[in-house]
Amino acid sequence: MLEDALKQDSGPARRRATRQVRVGNVPVGGGAPVVVQSMTNTDTADVAATTKQVAELWRAGSEIVRVTVNTPDAAAAVPRIVDKLAMMGVEVPIVGDFHYNGHQLLAKEPACARALAKYRINPGNVGFGRKKDLQFAQLVEFAIANGKPVRIGANWGSLDQALATTLMDENATRAEPWDAARVLREALIRSALDSAARAVELGLPPERIILSCKVSGVQELIAVYRDLAARSDFALHLGLTEAGIGSKGIVASSAALAVLLQEGIGDTIRISLTPEPGAPRTQEVVVAQELLQTMGLRAFTPMVTACPGCGRTTSEFFQHLAQVVQEHVRARMPEWRISHPGAENLTLAVMGCVVNGPGESRHANIGISLPGTGEAPSAPVFVDGEKTVTLRGDSIAEDFIAIIDAYVERRFGADATAHANV
Ligand code: SF4
Repeated sequence: MLEDALKQDSGPARRRATRQVRVGNVPVGGGAPVVVQSMTNTDTADVAATTKQVAELWRAGSEIVRVTVNTPDAAAAVPRIVDKLAMMGVEVPIVGDFHYNGHQLLAKEPACARALAKYRINPGNVGFGRKKDLQFAQLVEFAIANGKPVRIGANWGSLDQALATTLMDENATRAEPWDAARVLREALIRSALDSAARAVELGLPPERIILSCKVSGVQELIAVYRDLAARSDFALHLGLTEAGIGSKGIVASSAALAVLLQEGIGDTIRISLTPEPGAPRTQEVVVAQELLQTMGLRAFTPMVTACPGCGRTTSEFFQHLAQVVQEHVRARMPEWRISHPGAENLTLAVMGCVVNGPGESRHANIGISLPGTGEAPSAPVFVDGEKTVTLRGDSIAEDFIAIIDAYVERRFGADATAHANV
């Protein structure tokens, strides 16, 4: 088929070998599929609210969820949250995000240190002056004692200022000094790499270290991660920090992460969206999944191809149908993932008229070509490239969804699996 031919030369680069880290039961790096993660925005001390949001993020597809651990109450809440999630059947590793006082919180709440699946340490926010090295060592020792991995997450907004100053001074002595942006990028990378080397020296195995160096500019992020990937074989967490709100945040994150993922850089991703007022926190998970799926790196939910519409469409019905279909398959996917494995690879098309409708519909597993201006009021449906039925009347949406459900049952249901195993 044309699509298969087009795909042949356009796949992502082969993934660079990185060390594999296990975060709870989730493998990160070492050739494992790129992992989707997210972070709560509730007060962690509020056990009910945080448990509820973690469960929502997990149901949306987040494979790791990070929570802020910033106060004694938050640290005390962590084991209770983990227990409640287990009782609800929510099996997602919980990561603790520590800044400034992590060493004190882990010492005060050993149950929190045990319950977390990973600790995130920001080397720019571990402590100040002479205390910095000591407090970093204490955090790493907690990780060693509890058998936990650590993400050493440097961030542009909380860069280790002492290191930045040292590198600026070194730069001034160069025959050809770098520009300031390059020096700051180097400071960020060195902050992560030097901290990782120190953690290894303290006894933390490299297989328990994930690195990140987050910045908020697309080009800077690409430059930083290319450099970081060339200089280490640690598993890498990718994300554009403070990406922004709405479409700007989605576009900026996708632009930066797509370039890096295409080059085989990145083992786990988070899309740091600022939620629009009233928008669900789960949007960042959906965006991360769609990024990986549209790039052909993973499959999570059947994808709907839909035309943008134009002067040949007479109503908004095809937009409505595309939305209804996408929402339907997304809502069914948590159940299908267990009962109908493989359904996530299904491709669907909802097209607005005869110009590209039948062609695009034939390329999908199931496609529908709606009538455009001046066309007969009928909608041919194509299944695996063959026209099977023509829908008419007021129940086109319900009828098309019934065709999708029947196809999923036939192709991915228990009978199909049993038949395939005979
Ligand atoms: S398929 Fe038809 S309605 Fe959709 S964009 Fe193309 S010409 Fe317009």
